[in-house]
Amino acid sequence: MLEELKKLEALQAIDLKIFNLEEEQDALPAQNDILKSQIDEKEKRLAALKSEIKIQVIEKEQRDEILKKGEEKLKTITGKQGAIRNKEEYNALLRDVDTTKRFNRDLSEEIEEIRQTILTKEAELAQIEEESNKEIAEIEQTISDNEKRISEIEEILDDLYAKRDEVVKNIKPIVYNKYQRILSKSPNARAIATAENRVCLGCNMTLPPELFNMVLRSTHIEVCPNCQCILIPSQKPRDLSEITAAEMKSKKNVIEISDDDDE
Ligand SMILES: [Zn+2]
Repeated sequence: MLEELKKLEALQAIDLKIFNLEEEQDALPAQNDILKSQIDEKEKRLAALKSEIKIQVIEKEQRDEILKKGEEKLKTITGKQGAIRNKEEYNALLRDVDTTKRFNRDLSEEIEEIRQTILTKEAELAQIEEESNKEIAEIEQTISDNEKRISEIEEILDDLYAKRDEVVKNIKPIVYNKYQRILSKSPNARAIATAENRVCLGCNMTLPPELFNMVLRSTHIEVCPNCQCILIPSQKPRDLSEITAAEMKSKKNVIEISDDDDE
């Protein structure tokens, strides 16, 4: 059985690679969607600023038109000067001239304000447009890199699936099926774990001694009661320097107790 378990190690290595690549592949389209919406936002911001400027331009044009009429009116009024017959008519004309001049002056000031606003917004637009275009170009580059990576992963995965098929062919179906069952339930694509010094290295749980002995004998497939991984005996010989912290602690306790006894 040890031979079969060793084959599972090779399979597990491939499956981990497949898992990580599939995760990456799954994440990339969502990442691109976010990037595309960032571009949309930047473009919307530019469009909003452009339409604000357009509104101001229209406002200014409308006032320019009214001012033109105001100036024509002033000309007409002053042209009537020759037809004045008395002081009353003269005073009325002066009032009319005065009112029209004031109206035109106020309107000119308003037009100048709008013109300044347009200039400010146009400068702002020019700056934002330059920054946004640069940022949009960078984002578009990332999107295209991601798309390249997606197809690259596609190719690597095809290779890995083929390699996997080759490995699976040489594993006994009963062993493979058990592995596959555990793998399909694992959230992180782990179906085997090394058992070393009585500890499952998959989840760090201390294994019952009988179970650990069974794993060392490798006559059957043994599974970690905690993480459900198939347990594979470590190839490393047991080394004293690798005694687990738990064992150290229990030894220390023994020493302390015996110290107490001496007193
Ligand atoms: Zn475990």
